[in-house]
Amino acid sequence: MCGIVGIVAKTPVNQLLYDGLLVLQHRGQDAAGIVTAEGLTLHMHKGQGLVSDVFRTRNMRSLMGNAGIGHVRYPTAGSASSLAESQPFYVNSPFGIVLAHNGNLTNDKQLKEDMYRTDLRHINTNSDSEALLNVFAHELSRRVKGPQLNAETIFDAIAAVHDRVKGAYAVVAMIAGFGLVAFRDPYGIRPLCLGTHETPEGLEYIVASESVAHDVLGFKFERDIAPGEAVFVTFDGEFYSKQCHANPVLVPCIFEHVYFARPDSVIDGISVHEARLNMGENLADKVTAVIPRLDIDVVIPIPDTSRDSALQLANKLGLPYREGFMKNRYIGRTFIMPGQASRKKSVRQKLNPIAVEFRGKNVLLVDDSIVRGTTSRQIVQMVRDCGATKVYLASAAPPVMYPHVYGIDMPTRAELIATGRTDQQIADEIGVDAIIYQELDALIDACSKASGGAITSFETSCFDGKYITGDITLAYLDELEAKRLSPLSAKASDAAESHLLDMNIGVGEQNLL
Ligand code: AMP
Repeated sequence: MCGIVGIVAKTPVNQLLYDGLLVLQHRGQDAAGIVTAEGLTLHMHKGQGLVSDVFRTRNMRSLMGNAGIGHVRYPTAGSASSLAESQPFYVNSPFGIVLAHNGNLTNDKQLKEDMYRTDLRHINTNSDSEALLNVFAHELSRRVKGPQLNAETIFDAIAAVHDRVKGAYAVVAMIAGFGLVAFRDPYGIRPLCLGTHETPEGLEYIVASESVAHDVLGFKFERDIAPGEAVFVTFDGEFYSKQCHANPVLVPCIFEHVYFARPDSVIDGISVHEARLNMGENLADKVTAVIPRLDIDVVIPIPDTSRDSALQLANKLGLPYREGFMKNRYIGRTFIMPGQASRKKSVRQKLNPIAVEFRGKNVLLVDDSIVRGTTSRQIVQMVRDCGATKVYLASAAPPVMYPHVYGIDMPTRAELIATGRTDQQIADEIGVDAIIYQELDALIDACSKASGGAITSFETSCFDGKYITGDITLAYLDELEAKRLSPLSAKASDAAESHLLDMNIGVGEQNLL
C-alpha cells in the first residue's frame, strides 16, 4: 500500500506536498519521494524512511516549482524494499515523465517481457511501477508527433495503458513542460480523489489517495476520480478529464475500510469512520450468537483502528467500553519490521496493558483484522498475565485466508493463521476462550450501508479468494509467495537505512547524487 499526491498550484508546492505526504504517512513508512516541476526542469528528492527523515531543509529548498507529485511507499507483495524502488520514477522520453503509483500490477512479468522484446525499453528495477511508467511513456510516444501535446493524446495513451495493464493502479504523473496527469484502474481498486482551491489567480488542483489530504491542505474535496477515468491539469491550471475505459465498474478494495485508510477520510462516498461503526454494529450480532451476553464484563479495543467498531459494538450490546492498552505512539507500525523476531519484540514495546481493566474480568477484545495472529497471541498473553478471567477476541473483518495481490502487503497462505484452520483451532492457537469473526456479507453490508447503498460490490479477495481482475491463478500465487520467501528479497529489505537520492532532471541539467 502506498500514498500518492499531486498538486498544480499558483505558488511553490514543496511545503504542500510535504504536508500531504505527512498526512498520508499511515499508507507507507518505507520510503518517501517528491518531484516538483519548475519550467522544464523536474527536481526530485527521495529516500528510505519516514517523510520527516527523508526531507531536510536543504532538500525542500531544491524542490522548486508550482506543481509536483509525492509518494509514500509501503512494500507490496513480492517486492523488496530498496532505494531503487522508491518513487516517483522518472523516464526521459517522451518529454520527461515522472510517475507515482499506489497498487500492484498482476501482469508485470508479461509487461516487462513485452518491454524488452517489443517496446525495446529497459526496466531497471523489480518494481511494477517502473513498468507501468514505461507502458505509459511508450503509448504516449507512439501518439505524439513533434514537441506538441494535448489532452486527447494523453487520454488515448491512458486508454492503451488500460488495455495492456492488469491489476490495481491509482497514479499521479507529471509530463515536463505540460502538466499533471492522474488516473485510476477500471475497477477503482485503489482510491484517488480530486480537490480544488480558489485563488485570485485561478483554481489550484490536488489529487490524493485520501480526502484527508484535501482537508489538511485547505483544498475543497470535489469528487473521487472514477474507475478508468483520467484527468490532466496543465501547469497553467487548465483542467481536462475523460473516461478512458469502455467498461469501467467500481469495485473498491474493502481492506481500505477494514484497516488502511484514516477514519477521517471519505473514499468513494464512504466515510471510513462510518463504515467501521457499521462493522461494530454488525459484529455485535455475531458476538451475541456466539457468546452468552452476560458472560462479557468489558469491551476493549486493540488500538488504533478497531476503536470505532469496538465502541459501536459495546453500545449495541449495552456493555462498558474501556481503553485497556497504552500505545507508545513513537514506535512505527510493527507490521513493517523485517523478520518475525523484531516483530515479536516490537508488539511488546508498542502496547502495554492497563492491568486494572483486565484483572478478574471476562474481556472481549476487538481487533480490526487478524492476519498472522502474531500480534493477537502476544496481546492475549499480556491480558492473561494481567489476571483476566476469560478472554474473547472479535475481529471486525472475516478470516484473512488468501494473499492480497492488489497492493496490500499480506503474508503467504502458510503464514496466515486462518488458512486451513477452524475457528476453534484459531482460538486455541491464539489462546482465547472464543474467537468471533465478522461474516463477509456483514462486512460488505457495513461498507455498503455507509455508501448509502450506492456501492454493493467490493474487492474482497483476501477473504474469499475471488480476484476481480480474473487473471489470478494458483500458479501466480505460488510464484508470488516464492518471491516473498526468497532470501534475496529478505536481504534487500534488510538493506541500509539512510539512502537518499537527489536528481535535477531537465534540459541541459542532470545530476545524480
Ligand atoms: P497479525 O495478525 O499479527 O499479522 O497482525 C494483525 C494486525 O496488523 C491487525 O490487527 C491490523 O491492525 C494490522 N494489519 C492488518 N493488515 C495489515 C497490513 N497489511 N499491513 C500492516 N498492518 C496490518
